[in-house]
Amino acid sequence: MTATLLKGRRLARRLRSRIAADIRDLRSHAGRTVTIAAVLVGDDQGALNYARAQSRTCDSTGIGYRLVQLPGDCRMLDVVEAIDQLNLAAEITGIILLTPVPPQLNQTALQWRIAPHKDLEGVSPGNMGHLLADSGEFFTPPTPAAAMALLDSLDLELSGRQAVVVGHSAIVGKPLAMRLLNRRCTVTIAHKHTGDLASLTSKADILCVAVGKPGLIVGHHVKKGAVVLDIGTTYVGKTVLGDCDPDSVGSKAGWLTPVPGGVGPLTTVMLMRNACRALARQLG
Ligand code: NAP
Repeated sequence: MTATLLKGRRLARRLRSRIAADIRDLRSHAGRTVTIAAVLVGDDQGALNYARAQSRTCDSTGIGYRLVQLPGDCRMLDVVEAIDQLNLAAEITGIILLTPVPPQLNQTALQWRIAPHKDLEGVSPGNMGHLLADSGEFFTPPTPAAAMALLDSLDLELSGRQAVVVGHSAIVGKPLAMRLLNRRCTVTIAHKHTGDLASLTSKADILCVAVGKPGLIVGHHVKKGAVVLDIGTTYVGKTVLGDCDPDSVGSKAGWLTPVPGGVGPLTTVMLMRNACRALARQLG
């Protein structure tokens, strides 16, 4: 491997201690604490693991974390009522809906029910609209924010670079593409129906991959010296794999995020940062 590994842990540590300091300031100057409510419907193991990781990071930064658990067979109305209560609760700074939700529920409708000023994952139409308008008044979804923080740690001029984002989900691919466009990259979004993926990705100065298919991107997909942000995380037993083949991609790219240890460690920190910003905005 010749690529420099873009590791997220050190940056995550630095940002965590800055967030902890902001939390202390908010407590001593405004007498307020930041509390995140996470809504979990059912008992999906992945969602529970994610909630545990979030709760640990919250503990280490002085943020309160309340897990609101609802039975797996509940109806839309039950979850809507729970979200509405949290929207109104003054002591709750921000809300997240842990996914996946059971199939009888409409996940998007539930995410959109979260009040925009408490929408820490930035998935409500209001926050997405602000992102599109580049107003600065929005919560960026945490994973794209984590990817951008790693990119910014390289101190590269982004304007005018060719960027390709593979994957177009509302929570990762689309908002990441928009963040790159807002920084004046020339952005192409690829997805499952894109023909000849390699002809696009091999021209990218910045290649971001968020699909969930290990080995999708190999050496010939990558321009020599490119920055490759591998966001995919797929569990195979206890091993976690990215979307890039690390050996062949690592021998072409200039920089590569490892999986695990690249974008992942920063994602929860970005959620905490959104929570801090939410309280600061709520205090005016
Ligand atoms: P998602 O909603 O399943 O979206 C996957 C995207 O990949 C879709 O847009 C899909 O296109 C596209 N796709 C599927 N097969 C493809 C192919 N063969 N070629 C090109 N594009 C293809 O997933 P997500 O929530 O965005 O997450 C993506 C990955 O990132 C997952 O592995 C997830 O675990 C990981 N992730 C990591 C973090 C982190 O903190 N590191 C956070 C969130 C997610 P179509 O819609 O057209 O099928």
